[in-house]
Amino acid sequence: MTNEFFTPVSGMELPRFAGVPTFMRLPVVGLEDARLPEVDVGIIGVPWDSGTTNRPGPRHGPRQLRDASTMMRAQNGATGVRPFELVNCADLGDVGPNPTDILDSMERITAFYSAAIRAGVTPLTAGGDHLSSLPILRAVAKDDPVGMIHFDSHTDLFDTYFGGTKFTHGTPFRRAVEEGLLDPEKVVQIGIRGTAYDSEDLDFAKAVGIRIIRIEEFFERGIPDVMAEARDIVGADPTYISYDIDFVDPTFAPGTGTPEVGGPNSFQAIQVVRELDGVNIVGADMVEVSPPFDSSGGTAFLGVSIMFELLCVMAKRLASA
Ligand code: MN
Ligand code: MN
Repeated sequence: MTNEFFTPVSGMELPRFAGVPTFMRLPVVGLEDARLPEVDVGIIGVPWDSGTTNRPGPRHGPRQLRDASTMMRAQNGATGVRPFELVNCADLGDVGPNPTDILDSMERITAFYSAAIRAGVTPLTAGGDHLSSLPILRAVAKDDPVGMIHFDSHTDLFDTYFGGTKFTHGTPFRRAVEEGLLDPEKVVQIGIRGTAYDSEDLDFAKAVGIRIIRIEEFFERGIPDVMAEARDIVGADPTYISYDIDFVDPTFAPGTGTPEVGGPNSFQAIQVVRELDGVNIVGADMVEVSPPFDSSGGTAFLGVSIMFELLCVMAKRLASA
């Protein structure tokens, strides 16, 4: 049962356009706060995009996502889940990155998440570009490799960029497999599409046993069937959920650095998350929302709507465990 302190401000009491825009209008509980051990799900901002190889901007993501998150209400209209009544949720603030030093930033991110996890917090992240997931996984999978369900139009499994750079938003999961953070046989990547440099990423996936479900197969089989397979792949084991907003068709989510046409619509974007019901989620992220390319604000709104769906399945699972 949740503590009243962790109840979000209701739009019935204070209009949603008023007040300080924390994530989903939750209280802020920083790493130094005595209440940190009471937090079950902590929403953390990673305002960092130093791994971006083309159009930047996700460093502005957390602030825009916080603003848009004031639109969220307390109850999931489709599933009826009321996450804030199931577990204690809080806004843990942002990791302070070093925008000019990738290695230093990654150490800062890992240290922040390690402290939160030591306190018993399950992290839900607002990125940040997709390189953010690597230092987060270094904290989440410190002791044992985890499985992963990954929504994206890209595999992010390339080896290097620009003649040898190993840390970009196109390489995080290659590194995570090499570092023993991910069990590749419990990794599924869904929504892959678009033009490609070559097949190096796909060859790596095949060699280590990562399952790739391209968008053609996704639409041919349909969401319930594809997601049943995804749940089978990860089984009951600890699983990380990584959600790149470019999984969604750019008609619905244009505010991102590397859009690819021919993707799921906004309804399908939340349907896949509802299908994660029961998965043993040990952390989740929403990455690559880029406010400079999001002139309507609609991409950030979709991003936090997906985060709310993630929060619902995470809270339901934690409350039942
Ligand atoms: Mn990605
Ligand atoms: Mn992508």
